[in-house]
Amino acid sequence: MTLEDFRDPGRVRVLLGAIRQEAEPLAQRLGRPLQIMEVCGGHTHAIFRFGLDQLLPKSIEFIHGPGCPVCVLPVAAVDQALALAERGLVLASFGDPMRVPGTHMSLLEAKAKGMDVRILYSPLDALALARKEPGRQFVFFSIGFDTTMPAAACSLLAAAREGLGNLRFLCHHIRLMPTLEALLTAGELRLDGFVGPGHVATVIGAGAFAPVAARHGKPLVIAGFEPVDFLQALYQLLLQLKEGRCAIENAYGRVVSEAGNLAAQAAIAQAFEEGVDAEWRGLGLVPGSGVRVREAFRDWDAAPLLAFDTLPQRRPEPCQCSQVLIGRLKPNQCPHFGKGCSPQHPLGALMVSTEGACAAYHQYKEAIHG
Ligand code: SF4
Repeated sequence: MTLEDFRDPGRVRVLLGAIRQEAEPLAQRLGRPLQIMEVCGGHTHAIFRFGLDQLLPKSIEFIHGPGCPVCVLPVAAVDQALALAERGLVLASFGDPMRVPGTHMSLLEAKAKGMDVRILYSPLDALALARKEPGRQFVFFSIGFDTTMPAAACSLLAAAREGLGNLRFLCHHIRLMPTLEALLTAGELRLDGFVGPGHVATVIGAGAFAPVAARHGKPLVIAGFEPVDFLQALYQLLLQLKEGRCAIENAYGRVVSEAGNLAAQAAIAQAFEEGVDAEWRGLGLVPGSGVRVREAFRDWDAAPLLAFDTLPQRRPEPCQCSQVLIGRLKPNQCPHFGKGCSPQHPLGALMVSTEGACAAYHQYKEAIHG
């Protein structure tokens, strides 16, 4: 199938009809709209980009999950990166984390003030920079879920193999599965099921989501990012609810396998120690969701360079992002939305990345009602 097939209006119409037919009686039976969490920010973006929110029946309500790594980056992590840049190290990272506000400023504002902050597309670019400028000390501010961890791990392992002495990694990677489990264990959300994150699943495999169904009794269907992908997954989810089944299904089989990407998993395991408690913006401390650079690669780890007072700690959050992240507030219900807070001047991380729920609402806000 081609990309056009996954956007084909005919297929979309058929799926929408099938979804409407299943959703209405289910919602009537429950006496409320179905609450479906789309875990991944890429899905939030797709829902609005393709106008799916307007095409789907009101009997389905989406809860925008925490699956955008920029959006859950804690203020303290940005402060750590700033502390290293202030010390004269070259701070390099992807574009989006550069815009996340720290306690006093963002990395982009630090760059404007004259600090050496560089925007890269990949951790591999940091290797090239460090080789080219051996007289400078570089830190790659490495963030993201399981999807970006393999590239960070491979770059770190390559730096170690080469004995590159002027590149370190400030790692704030987080893993999605412990967070889903933390959300479900907290029991604060009334959820009927999940549309599962296609990109993360590519790395960890469909099988990794088994505890969501087995331990927590919630169905999850892994979805791709085109309209037909997403609607197919949603339809499968509704069928499970109708039939009283609770399973992990994979509607993105052309990319996601049961076991995931074994080479990527091996690189992650070699470079990083898992099971570290990590702070998430909006969710607080999520046990076991973080990673740290393995002791064997200490010379390439930026964490030992940090003073105690810049290590992660709880800070007051600047806005209502936490409430949006756990589904208690819609972005356009935040008092700052579209007023003090916009993609040009983000107050909170949810407005920074295009995958953030607030940025998606803002970009497509003509389509948002209420
Ligand atoms: S509108 Fe801005 S301040 Fe409000 S929740 Fe979204 S990002 Fe945070």
